[in-house]
Amino acid sequence: MTSWTAVNEELARWTDLGLRCTFWLRDDDAVAAGPQLDRLLNRCTQAGIPLGLAVIPADTERSLADALAEQPHATVLVHGWAHADHAAPGKKKCEFGPERPPELRRAEAERGLSVLRALFGNRVLPLFVPPWNRMAPDMPACLSAAGYRAVSAFGPSPAPRDGIAWINTHLDLIDWRGSRSAVPLDALLDLLCRELRERREGQRDPHEPIGLLTHHRAHDEAIWDLLDRLLDGLAGHPAVEWPAVGTLCRT
Ligand SMILES: [Zn+2]
Repeated sequence: MTSWTAVNEELARWTDLGLRCTFWLRDDDAVAAGPQLDRLLNRCTQAGIPLGLAVIPADTERSLADALAEQPHATVLVHGWAHADHAAPGKKKCEFGPERPPELRRAEAERGLSVLRALFGNRVLPLFVPPWNRMAPDMPACLSAAGYRAVSAFGPSPAPRDGIAWINTHLDLIDWRGSRSAVPLDALLDLLCRELRERREGQRDPHEPIGLLTHHRAHDEAIWDLLDRLLDGLAGHPAVEWPAVGTLCRT
């Protein structure tokens, strides 16, 4: 069973090597203002960390722009177009999969960026977050042509391709296939230790940021509590840094 002691021991090894580990937080499916969004924004402010907020362009409401106006630490990311499933029957849900022609996908991705820029201006980072964290293999080229610089999905980040950097997330706080509530803390800390160890030992790029993934609209108290515990342990830790989301894009 992994505990904070194991995480802190691992982080102490980073300190001994003169390294700091980069973290970031991505929250998905934002569309409008509301108490759950406020809770997330306030928690980030309190922890002193930036937030990458993946917004669904087709469903976005003006209230979201109002809610973010006084929140300079929040960066808007483009979460697909309408979060619509176009996968073939029996396949995993996917909005930007190979079932649809690349020209159509490129045009939708471009429209998403332009709709969000009209609402949020320079708060938008040209970073595409594919719904359900999956997309067709030719999407980096489509996204590059549509004006994007980066993609964020889930799992180890691939090398930059077609001028597109990858800034993935690695720790999902929600047990989607089971309880649909919080993942057990010890299981998440176990994954966290592995992410840290693989970077420190050189099996992965030590500079690859470790991404936490949340979905504020789906949070119950157990998920909020898990986020609190993670931020209590990781925000402000001397071996950890939380840079502005826009500075994470490297191609
Ligand atoms: Zn989503």
